[in-house]
Amino acid sequence: MVKTDADLIILGAGPAGLTAAQYGARANMRVLVIEELTPGGQALFIGVLENYPGYMPSTPGAVKSGFELVNNMYQQAQTFGAVFITETVQSLQKEGDIFTVCLASGKTFRGLAVIVATGAQHRLLDIPGEETFSGRGVSYCANCDGPFFKEKKIFVIGGGDAACDEAQFLSRLSSQVVLIHRRDRFRSQKALAERVLRNPHITVCFNTRLLEIRGVQKVSSVLLENILTGEHYEEAGDAVFIYAGAIPQTSVVPDVQKDASGYIITDQEMATSIPGIFCAGDVRACPFRQVVVAAGEGAVAAHSAAAYIDRIKGEEALGAIP
Ligand code: NAP
Repeated sequence: MVKTDADLIILGAGPAGLTAAQYGARANMRVLVIEELTPGGQALFIGVLENYPGYMPSTPGAVKSGFELVNNMYQQAQTFGAVFITETVQSLQKEGDIFTVCLASGKTFRGLAVIVATGAQHRLLDIPGEETFSGRGVSYCANCDGPFFKEKKIFVIGGGDAACDEAQFLSRLSSQVVLIHRRDRFRSQKALAERVLRNPHITVCFNTRLLEIRGVQKVSSVLLENILTGEHYEEAGDAVFIYAGAIPQTSVVPDVQKDASGYIITDQEMATSIPGIFCAGDVRACPFRQVVVAAGEGAVAAHSAAAYIDRIKGEEALGAIP
């Protein structure tokens, strides 16, 4: 068999990639994980992780934040022998049964199977002022930037789980949180929506659209539209936290089958339309994006990749018998 650098190459080290790395290494595969940023993905920004099974933030000594959980996952994967490198992947090619991953640095790595766990990035609203005031009042991370706006007026944009969770987080820092959502009901899980609606520090404006973010050196107001009446009005405020969903990161696998929103389609074994490429986590077409789902998918993907590798190694060995 042609020599490879790893059996399994995992692209991305969020909860899906980290779990796949742990399961893959524990199954005795040579696992290489390539991540361009700090391992942990979006979970790094979860302040209080209250819905990961078995972890209760109120229990003394328990894992509390997404940061702590993914850090443990990272160490656990390394303990089992997974190797991590920090690099940007430029392309992925397949020749025969061998995958070659080309990195921005010019290095290449060859493997027998690949798990794409590249996640998703926050969606921009693409409105005037968003880019200008990014880092000067406009933010996508309440955990990172919320503390700069204690007792200031904060707008949160979106109606999904992230907007509700983060509005809730921000309401602990300020009693003037205004959640702006374009529709007349939340997309988020009911429990999160109810918590927001009950929170005296959060004012919810349904049927409202953010048109522009205004200011001089930093955010000082927003221009809003009441979608029902068409009225435009300006409201003073200091920060805008945007949670308008996510865009799957699939540029390294342009040819795998995707759904209409660009998420990678797999079967229940996490196999994509290209044999040997598996997929897990937020980049995969799945109706429920959670840390626990990503971790579960990572475990399945590693298991399926191991079976695939066994199969191709077996076929090659059989082929070698005269
Ligand atoms: P999401 O569920 O896709 O929600 C995005 C929200 O942004 C929607 O309410 C959407 O409005 C709104 N939106 C999209 N484009 C917009 C635009 N151009 N202008 C204004 N509003 C816009 O995304 P998410 O909340 O980031 O969550 C992503 C995934 O992570 C979900 O699967 C979610 O379940 C998961 N997640 C879970 C938790 C948790 O369990 N605690 C926390 C965070 C995230 P419409 O409703 O009108 O489409």
